[in-house]
Amino acid sequence: MTNSSASPFSPPILSLVVPMFNEAGNLDGLFDRLAQVLGGLDASYEIVCVDDGSSDDTVARVVDHHGRDPRIKLVELSRNFGKELALTAGLKHARGRCVVMIDADLQHPPEVIGEMLEKWREGYEMVIAVRRGRDDESAFKRSAAKVFYELFGRVSEVQLPRGAGDFRLLDRKVVDVLNAMPEHTRFMKGLYAWVGFRQVTIPYDVAPRAAGQTKFNAFRLWRLAIDGITSFTSVPLKVWTFAGMLVAAFALLYGLLFIVKTLILGIDVPGYPSLIVAITFFSGVQLISLGVIGEYLGRVFSEVKQRPLFVVRQAVGFEAETKDEPR
Ligand code: UDP
Ligand code: MG
Repeated sequence: MTNSSASPFSPPILSLVVPMFNEAGNLDGLFDRLAQVLGGLDASYEIVCVDDGSSDDTVARVVDHHGRDPRIKLVELSRNFGKELALTAGLKHARGRCVVMIDADLQHPPEVIGEMLEKWREGYEMVIAVRRGRDDESAFKRSAAKVFYELFGRVSEVQLPRGAGDFRLLDRKVVDVLNAMPEHTRFMKGLYAWVGFRQVTIPYDVAPRAAGQTKFNAFRLWRLAIDGITSFTSVPLKVWTFAGMLVAAFALLYGLLFIVKTLILGIDVPGYPSLIVAITFFSGVQLISLGVIGEYLGRVFSEVKQRPLFVVRQAVGFEAETKDEPR
């Protein structure tokens, strides 16, 4: 079923979606490895590179590679929108009968793609590559991830397979469903789980980053975790009803105790420290609950604005060459 001679404009079997944010140093190695691996597969392919507002020469290098191999295509976003939206942009542009998302830093070994295609041909609609261990990460990141997955599993309406990331194959049916989802806060791992379909996992070993540094610092991971939880459960909003009822019941009992005590023992000297502790503690609790409401309200706000999810500056390689009109 090889049709590698097909025109670069007819839909291929396989689309790769590669989000890139300042990955210039990785591109030569990446395209080399991909060409090797994909060349050995019995499937036509395209590589959809999504530039997520890089400030290095990622765009120029991808355009360069496109000149040599038209199957390498570029979607350039107008600024940095974050990995989730870069993936979304890639899924919108990919035209393959199945799509594999893969990081640009070679942490996801391309050799696994062959195995994914086999599973897809067996009839699975989503093939999830699951990392064997997290030995490559710091103890802090590992335990933070553990807490997040534990919490998410408990409160959310969907379950995330442990160790599953964005490295996975999606059938065209799945991609169409994801493309039709209008939500702005896109926690992709949650969305993949939400859509369902016939899924299978295959294990892989994470490689160290080829060049450059991770783009996710502690703050970005925190935002991602909050996005994930607020997009998939409203439990954090509802716990305050129970917390409030509990505190009110406690206050009532405590009040009764004081009335009885005053009636029996007379007026007591007021307890200043307990007053301060109670005031500061419950002010803290109230601010947290306001913050939680704020998180959800912020999301409602960004949804109702109905802005586009991402803005494309240019797309290279998706249709017959159109020249820019002179200004
Ligand atoms: N990435 C992106 N936009 C961002 C951050 C990251 O497109 O705002 C891309 C990045 O170029 C890489 C992939 O997402 O291809 C994974 O990022 P990274 O390797 O920094 O994350 P980690 O592997 O440390 O989780
Ligand atoms: Mg990485």
